[in-house]
Amino acid sequence: MRQVFIDGKDRAWVVIKKKILSKRQLFLFLDFDGTLSPIVGHPSKARLSLRLYKQLLGLQKMSRVRLGFISGRLLKEVKNLIRIPGAFYAGNHGFELCGPSWRWSHPAHKMMKGFIRESKKVLRPIISKYPGSFLEDKRATLSIHYRKIQAHKTALFCREIKARLKTIKSFFKIRVIKGKKVIELMPRVLWHKGKALEKIIYQSRTKPGQTCYIYIGDDTTDEDAFCVINRKGGISIHVHDETRKTKARYTIRHQSEVKRLLNRITQAIT
Ligand SMILES: [Mg+2]
Repeated sequence: MRQVFIDGKDRAWVVIKKKILSKRQLFLFLDFDGTLSPIVGHPSKARLSLRLYKQLLGLQKMSRVRLGFISGRLLKEVKNLIRIPGAFYAGNHGFELCGPSWRWSHPAHKMMKGFIRESKKVLRPIISKYPGSFLEDKRATLSIHYRKIQAHKTALFCREIKARLKTIKSFFKIRVIKGKKVIELMPRVLWHKGKALEKIIYQSRTKPGQTCYIYIGDDTTDEDAFCVINRKGGISIHVHDETRKTKARYTIRHQSEVKRLLNRITQAIT
């Protein structure tokens, strides 16, 4: 299906609005980094703006709206950054989930223990060679960040990482996903943000026939979630400032536009 850029195109918004109003309930899923918060030099610097927080809180208070936040960060971290009570949260690319009086984690995270220990050992010499790169151990997954290294060194850095990973990958079942200046390593099992989404939808007891599902995300790992949303007849929105192939049906070019879109959604259902 053709991608539609929403920015400034009211016709695309009219279609979205019609879809939202055609259902009794709305389940809005949002990624965090690059979607609710701009991408920053170090993940610890990312914040949810007060304005966005208030907007999300307002949406959560509406009886017809459910909210879900899906991130590659640790579950407790993403919960702390967003702090919307009563919402569903998925951390670690969907390997850890929680919602009102519910918590779940994928059993595959246990198999990552040995892999992460070995990876840290073999990757550290490369990391120390490239200032600005660092490893983030999230127990179920491992992230190799390189946003801050000098631009002309990124290709070489990625090549070295890839070569080193090859040696460990022969011993462990690992899935490697390249995101925005980050390489994500996760267990090679049939699990991803899309599966997490399905589990949350099931857990929420929302009825697909009566619910409009929306997913807004910006990176490679969100593609699995876009596919699930498309299958459910929902609205998949990709936040990206450049043309990139995506499974999402709609695209917003700038992260700052997310706020405007949430505003429009709020107004439409109020
Ligand atoms: Mg993101």
